[in-house]
Amino acid sequence: KAKQLGRNGFTLFNTELREQAEQRILLLKDMRHALTQNQFEMHFQPIVSMQTKKITKAEALIRWQHPDKGMINPAEFIPLAEETQLIHQLGELAFDQAVHVLQQTRDLNRPIQLSINVSPIQFSAKHTTLLAWQQQLAKHQLTPDMLVLEITEGLMMQGEGRSQKRLTKLIQQGFSIALDDFGTGYSSLAYLKQMDTEFIKIDKRFVDGIEHNQNDLVLCETMILMAHQLGLKVIAEGIETATQHELLKQAGCDFGQGYFYSKPLPKTVFINYLTAQGH
Ligand code: C2E
Ligand code: MG
Ligand code: MG
Ligand code: MG
Repeated sequence: KAKQLGRNGFTLFNTELREQAEQRILLLKDMRHALTQNQFEMHFQPIVSMQTKKITKAEALIRWQHPDKGMINPAEFIPLAEETQLIHQLGELAFDQAVHVLQQTRDLNRPIQLSINVSPIQFSAKHTTLLAWQQQLAKHQLTPDMLVLEITEGLMMQGEGRSQKRLTKLIQQGFSIALDDFGTGYSSLAYLKQMDTEFIKIDKRFVDGIEHNQNDLVLCETMILMAHQLGLKVIAEGIETATQHELLKQAGCDFGQGYFYSKPLPKTVFINYLTAQGH
């Protein structure tokens, strides 16, 4: 009987693995095609100053408008892109769109600071983005400090020393760094020590609980206190309610991002929203 079970288990396992592999290949093929068809676009989520609720920043978030499947979220394709060379193309797309929005908002006399999510893999490759990015910004009379590079701890850990060196170089060139999903990785504090970051982003998982869970509130308050003592500014992610906003404001949080203020918006919608709010 055991033998039979084992055999069945093995067959099932095998089938599952094969299906997974097939799915990945299909998704990769689909992504390559999508790039040629311009199916990827950036959405922009406002980031407000806690004190005034005015938009001072935004985060660029990638979206895949699939002709059959509808909108696909980045969690479903970014990991695969990171395992292949596709992340470089997606990264360039994000940067180009960010530059475009920085230009537009500047020309509309409503300048903001814009975040893009970068994978350290983008900096470990030979085709160095650094010089090209600087040149492209300079071409449009933009400065690197208008761009915030959001780095996740998880990826920093995978990155070799080389990507860290490139990041250090980026900081020296004036790019701002935000440590994304702060507190969720097991090396957060080590990275704070190593990297000259400007912002930490408190992860939604902490913000979610602060209304009902005293521990989560204490954790947020402590992260804010620590960040400030280190000279860093804090962006809280995933704020969905007025109470969460108030609690974080009272805790001294500098910036807020979440559905309570706005969902990520398509580019033109975002720019209209931003300029309608005024200064
Ligand atoms: P992230 O950088 O931590 O981005 C924040 C995520 O939280 C976004 O999900 C955003 O839509 C979502 N969010 C913001 N406020 C709220 C809220 O109040 N409630 C809820 N339920 N969600 C909220 P999204 O856009 O699905 O992105 C997921 C992750 O994918 C990002 O997490 C980031 O790590 C990655 N990602 C997104 N765009 C890019 C990109 O262009 N390049 C790279 N390398 N990664 C990206
Ligand atoms: Mg981010
Ligand atoms: Mg985050
Ligand atoms: Mg997150």
